[in-house]
Amino acid sequence: MNFLIRGFNHCHALLTGLGVTLRYLVTPKMTQEYPEKPGPLEPRYRGRHTQRRYENGLERCVGCSLCAIYCPAYAIFVEAEENDPENPVSPGERHAKTYEIDMLRCIYCGLCEEACPEDAIQLSYQPGDPDDPDDIKARYELANYERPQRFLFDKEMLLEPLTEKMKAKRARELEDSKKSKEEVD
Ligand code: SF4
Ligand code: SF4
Repeated sequence: MNFLIRGFNHCHALLTGLGVTLRYLVTPKMTQEYPEKPGPLEPRYRGRHTQRRYENGLERCVGCSLCAIYCPAYAIFVEAEENDPENPVSPGERHAKTYEIDMLRCIYCGLCEEACPEDAIQLSYQPGDPDDPDDIKARYELANYERPQRFLFDKEMLLEPLTEKMKAKRARELEDSKKSKEEVD
């Protein structure tokens, strides 16, 4: 009797397994042809850090170093500099002359993002072209064979690209402020 029950259980397991195989034979394939065609990133993806700009292109970062203080991995280095009033880099009194993140230390905890009073540093879905595979890969492919140089992300690597739209908005703002000064004079 036990022999029959065991045989039945084995056949049942075998047929269940075959059923799964047959079901996947007729369902659409999920294979992603990475790295030729990287998969899409979800809108809430949090990955590579970005230093953000305002809509007028000014840098959000004011060099306050709060992110560096809160970082549990001591991965951030900030060196602030006074803004030139005629040609400011950020809306504050100061901006970050140097901003570096050591990606080998970073544990992607997001505390830098939480600490930042200007919403400047963000673990983000970096702005770019969502249809460009190379652009998408650049956002999450952080592995590299050249250490440590390639893992020390400086401001140039982190800063959001300055778009034509931002430049135009800044130019309009400067023009408006020039006009209002002339009216006052
Ligand atoms: S994500 Fe965390 S570990 Fe990485 S730089 Fe920010 S605070 Fe530091
Ligand atoms: S990223 Fe934010 S917290 Fe860090 S220095 Fe800049 S403004 Fe301060």
